[in-house]
Amino acid sequence: MMQTPDSLVKVTAADKTLRGLAVTTTHLVEQVRVRHKTAPTASAALGRTLTAGLLLGSMLKQDETLSLQFLGNGPLGGIFVDANARGEARGFVHNPRTHLPLRQGKLDVGGALGTGTLTVIRTQPWGKEPYRSILPIVSGEIGADIAHYLLNSEQIPSAVSLGVFVRPDESVGAAGGFIVQVMPGASDEIISQLEARIAQTRPVSQLVREGATSREILALVLEGFAPVTIDDMPVRFSCRCNRDRVLDMLAALGKAEVEDLLTTEGAAAVTCEFCGELYTVGRTELDVLFSDQ
Ligand SMILES: [Zn+2]
Repeated sequence: MMQTPDSLVKVTAADKTLRGLAVTTTHLVEQVRVRHKTAPTASAALGRTLTAGLLLGSMLKQDETLSLQFLGNGPLGGIFVDANARGEARGFVHNPRTHLPLRQGKLDVGGALGTGTLTVIRTQPWGKEPYRSILPIVSGEIGADIAHYLLNSEQIPSAVSLGVFVRPDESVGAAGGFIVQVMPGASDEIISQLEARIAQTRPVSQLVREGATSREILALVLEGFAPVTIDDMPVRFSCRCNRDRVLDMLAALGKAEVEDLLTTEGAAAVTCEFCGELYTVGRTELDVLFSDQ
């Protein structure tokens, strides 16, 4: 099936007493799967967290960044995602080949992660102190954990739905998610109608699989609440690593350490853990790097 490009949409609804965000991430999650060679359960865990990162990232101010770090005692280990307000995200898991038997017909993300902590870090520009929240993992299914974070740290009641559909050949067939938030002033009637509406909504991965865009997802979830679109933007995978940063890192490692790498390996090879990019730095470049030492 033809897939539309990944995009993120923000709306207000019910006279601005509700806020909705939806994102489709099929291409982004598939790209990350290929980069990290994740097995299905790990793909779902990382894909849901990337999707959540983009949704939360879109609530940031322009120059802020967000990190989501799940650390669990299950076979997956940890999930790490960075996102920003410009619709860019990157991420990795500790053990990408993690795959568990299905639980009630679904990929067992909670079992793969286990119990542990979710740390959310909001980094502000201009060297201001970052905001950091550390919460226990409540279900490990990611969506419920993000809702728990939004309620406890941001004091906003939120419904969070995240989904990744993995095909039998392990490729990602559909991914996306939505968050609906209840703002101050929402009536009890609006809240109970919304709860009923969300309970009726089919899984978000199924909607994306059927070709729904992020705009259509919100139109469905917020049907009857007169949603008004306030933003619509593309999202994409993006890593901040580059050769200069790798050289800075090698410089910080020190001449003796790098000299050791050259002798044993023939070159200094550095792999970016966020995107899997391999940087190989040879003798000539390293001589220049350490020429003033
Ligand atoms: Zn990278």
